[in-house]
Order: sequence, then structure tokens, then C-alpha cells
Amino acid sequence: MAIDAQRDLVPLLRRAPQIASLLSPLPGGYVRLPDVTDGCWFLRHDGMCAYEVAHGREAKFTTCRLFPFNRVFRVGSLRIVDFNSVVCPLQDALGTGRGVSHAELANELAVVGEGPLVNTPLPLPEGARELRWHVLEQSIVEASREALTASSYLPFAARQLELTSRQLGLRSGAATESALESLSRLLACWGALFGELSEETALCTRRMALLTPSLRFNTLFRRAAPAYREGALLQPAQLLAAWFLASKAAAAYGVEHAAIQGAPSPQASHTLSLRSLTELYQAQAPLRDLLARVDQPAVLNQPLTVEDLPKDLATAAQRLSALLLRPAGKKVGAGEPLSRALQAVAAELPSHARALVPALLLRAGDALSFV
Ligand code: SF4
Repeated sequence: MAIDAQRDLVPLLRRAPQIASLLSPLPGGYVRLPDVTDGCWFLRHDGMCAYEVAHGREAKFTTCRLFPFNRVFRVGSLRIVDFNSVVCPLQDALGTGRGVSHAELANELAVVGEGPLVNTPLPLPEGARELRWHVLEQSIVEASREALTASSYLPFAARQLELTSRQLGLRSGAATESALESLSRLLACWGALFGELSEETALCTRRMALLTPSLRFNTLFRRAAPAYREGALLQPAQLLAAWFLASKAAAAYGVEHAAIQGAPSPQASHTLSLRSLTELYQAQAPLRDLLARVDQPAVLNQPLTVEDLPKDLATAAQRLSALLLRPAGKKVGAGEPLSRALQAVAAELPSHARALVPALLLRAGDALSFV
């Protein structure tokens, strides 16, 4: 955990002097307490926080007091509160009457005051301010409500694309229908490569919808993010790809889980937790970004390496190179979408190996560019 040295360090050492040798200073006045246990130093076997039990909630560190809403940023006069969905498990409390209300969180933030942990300055990506990013992001937060009970993420992705096109002043492609059509084409291509989604996806859709505002924030506002216009236009397809891959992973996990438990058939409703979906989103960034752009033309600036591949896959990689290689010294104009080459190569492979075709292309790294 990172703790605020100004605010929390001395009280912490007074209450738990045994951890003094473990603290190491970090820039910005923070200290870090490395975790060498399977959980926090203060986490008891019954799931309670020993520090809170012994010293009371008021004594807890800022970061733990606000958890999971402990990623708090400042952009000018605007405060952005993101939640942390990757460190510890979270539960979807919407509609249960449990969980943390907006008023409770606002109250906690007021009690915590103005320390550095709740004022992290956020540099905006290029063009975000001019394009009134918070208006678009807020409208997407509101639109996420409908997706909570939908069986597919597709309509919500199309709505995001429509809202984005409108906000960016793009008239063409702004209609929901055309957004739906373009994203449906992507889904069809992914289905041809990875197999159609056959499992029940409603729970995965709900969880992805709950995570969407946070995932968008962390993608669009990360360090070295592209200009806001470019990033925001790609996000609906990227999130749809993330949902597609997550639904595939959930189906695989459901099968695995059923096998371990000796259940007679895979549990269709089994899905991944909010934490695992976030983990997957981070781990699959290159694949997700590639899938989101398969409707664009792309070229390879050098052939894919094949020496370390088994024969079938080496042949597939050579075919991809032949289809996508930029002719030496030639400029390449807009051509066929990348999906054509991917599907043509996949069609020559047995069905179980088709899902590896995008991974083969990812081996190109920077040698793959979109035209
Ligand atoms: S609330 Fe904080 S101090 Fe308590 S167990 Fe959790 S991480 Fe540790």
C-alpha cells in the first residue's frame, strides 16, 4: 500500500512499530509498505481489517478509508473519482442497498480533506479540453445504465460510438444504425477467428458495463495516451473487443470450473469477477487493440519471423506476410481491411488453430502499421 507520509506515517508507526523496517520512501512524500504476505499485513483470517478493529475506522489510512474509490484526481476545478478494480476483489452492489453511496463517499472525501492522495494532478490528452471530454464521458456513464440488463455489449458500444461521433462533430456515422453496423461487422470477423459466442453473456455484459467508465478513463488518460479524438473514437470497438474476449475467457473458465467440480455440464452463467475482468483488460491490450482495428487496411513493413513456429503456423505466418507486406519503396494507399487477410489465412487452418492468427500478426510489433 502507498500511504501519505505527512498524514499517516507517524500514527502508523506509533500503532504498529513492528513494521518500521519495512517502510521505504517514495517520491512525493509517500512511503511504501511492501506486502510479503498473501494479503495485507493487517488482514485477519476472518476478512476483517485488524488495524480498523484495533484503532477504529477514523484511524485508517486515506487509501484504505476510500477503497475502492481511492483513485482521486484533479483537473482544474474538476475532481475525478475512479475506483480500483484490480488490487482486491470487488462486489457489484448496485440495487442491493449495500455498498457505498455517492453521499457517503462525498462525506469520506470531505473528512479526508485536501491531502496529496486525493489531489493527484491529471494531465489531459491532447484535444481533450477543447472537445469537452467530461461531457462525453459523463454521457457514457449515464448510458451504461441500460447495458446493465442487456444480454450483449454491442448496443452499448454502438451508443458510445454514436455519442462520440456527435461530440466530435462527425455527422456521418453518427446514427446508431451505422454505428451498430460497423461494430457488428467487427463482431462477425472476431467470430470467424475465435468462434461465435455461444455462452450466456448477460453477466459479463453487466460487469463490463459497470467497469466501462473506469476502463475508458484509464485508457484515454493514461500516460502517453493518443490525442483524445483518436482514442475516444477507438474506445467503443476496443471495449467491444474486451467484452468479446472476456466472454470467451468466461466460457473457458466455466468449462474448466465445471470440470474441476465434476459438474455434468459447463455452467453457462459462470463468469469472471470485476477484478479478473480488469486484469484481463490490461493483459489483453495488444490483442484487443488489434481486433478493434481489423476493419482498417494495414501493412507489414517486414516479414513475420517464422523460424520458431510449428510447421502449420509458420505457413500461416508466411501467408500473412505475403498478403500484407508493403512492396519495397512503394507507398501504400487505402486497401482492403485487415480482416480479409486474417480470415483468408484462418480459413486455411483447422478450426482449433484459427484463433492463433491474430497472435501471429501481433509478433510483428511496430512492423505492422495501419494505413
Ligand atoms: S483496509 Fe487497508 S489496512 Fe486494512 S486490511 Fe485492507 S488493505 Fe490492510
